[in-house]
Amino acid sequence: MQITVTSPLLPDLDEFHKLLQQIWDSKWITNNGSFHKQLEAALAEYLKVPYVSLFTNGTLPLITALQALRINGEVITTPYSFVATTHSIWWNGCRPVFVDIEEETCGIDPDKIEAAITPKTTAIMPVHCYGKPVKMKQIQEIADKYGLKVIYDAAHAFGVEVDGESVLKAGDMSTLSFHATKVYNTLEGGALVMQDEQTKKRTDYLKNFGFAGETEVVAPGINSKVDEVRCAYGLLNLKQIDDAIAKRQQVAQAYRVALRNVPGVRFFEDMPGVRHNYSYFPIFINEKEYGMSRDELYFKLRENDIWGRRYFYPLISTFSTYRGLPSASPANLPVATRIANEVICLPMHHGLTDTEINHILDLMVK
Ligand SMILES: *Cc1c(COP(=O)(O)O)cnc(C)c1O
Repeated sequence: MQITVTSPLLPDLDEFHKLLQQIWDSKWITNNGSFHKQLEAALAEYLKVPYVSLFTNGTLPLITALQALRINGEVITTPYSFVATTHSIWWNGCRPVFVDIEEETCGIDPDKIEAAITPKTTAIMPVHCYGKPVKMKQIQEIADKYGLKVIYDAAHAFGVEVDGESVLKAGDMSTLSFHATKVYNTLEGGALVMQDEQTKKRTDYLKNFGFAGETEVVAPGINSKVDEVRCAYGLLNLKQIDDAIAKRQQVAQAYRVALRNVPGVRFFEDMPGVRHNYSYFPIFINEKEYGMSRDELYFKLRENDIWGRRYFYPLISTFSTYRGLPSASPANLPVATRIANEVICLPMHHGLTDTEINHILDLMVK
C-alpha cells in the first residue's frame, strides 16, 4: 500500500457534473464568468479578507504582486521555501537577498533582516512556511522604518488566523496557491490577496494583459485568467475544506502523541491563538539522538512505500541560478542549512486512515 505525502481534496463528482452542465448551457467558459465571481466572493468571505483576485497558479500571483507594487533592485527573502518564491523575484529582474530562518517557525528571522538592507532594497518577501505564521509585526516595523513593501508568500497559509484575524491581512499583499498538493485546491490555481480596491483593480488589469477597458491597455500585463470549470470545482471544494482541516488536525494529534517521547525527533506544537491548517507535518531528525540520519529514515520509509518529502531540501540558495550570490553562502544561512538536512514532511492529508498512520509510526518508533 503506497502512502503519499498528500492526496488531493476532490469534490463530489455528481455535484461537479451539475455545475459543468450549467457551464455548458451558458457557453461562458472563461473571462470573469459567473463561477469566477462567485469563487472570488466566497473566498474573500471564508478567508476574512477584503479582496481576492484569482490566478491560474500560485507562482503568477508572486510575479504579479512585484509588478503591481513596482518592485525593483533587491528583495529580501528566505532560502527555505519552494523555488517559485525566489524565481518570482528573478523573473522581475530583481536580485534576491537571502536571510536566514529561525528554528521556531522555519520563517525568515526578523532579527537578521536589517543587516541585509542596502540602498537598493525595495521589498521583503517572507513565507509562512508550513502555514506557521512568521513574525509579521516585527517585519512590518522594519518595513515601515526603511520604506519597504512586504509581500507574503502565503501558499501554505490558507485559512490560517492569529487571534481571529487572517494572516493574509499582513503586509501589502499575500499570495496563495491552490495547487493539487495544497490544503485547498482548484486543480491548479492561486490568488492574490489585497486590502484596498485600487490594488484589486490594478491586479485584475495585470492578470488580463493590462486591459482596463475594451481598447485601453494600462500596463504590460500577463494572462492569468481562471476558467469557469476550475472555479466551479473550487466552489465545491470550499464547502468541504473545514472538514478536511479537522481531519488533518486529528492526523497531527496522532503523530504528536506517538512521537512526543521519541528522542531526536522534533516537531511543531500548535501556537497559542493560532488557527492552524495542518498543511504539512514536518519532523526534524537529530541524527545523534535518534540513532539514524534524516536520509536513512527517509529511505527506510521509501522502501516501505511511504513517500514523505524533504521539504525544503535542498535550499533554494544552492541551485545554480542563485548559488553565486553573496547572500547564498551557507555561512550566511546556518539555521536554514541545518534544518534542510534534518527535515522530513510525513504524509499528511484528510484521507489518511488509522492503519496507515500506525504503519508509518511503527517504522519510526523503535
Ligand atoms: C506551491 C508553492 C508555490 C507555487 O504554487 P504553484 O501553484 O505550484 O505555482 C509558491 N510558494 C510556495 C511556498 C509553495 O509551496
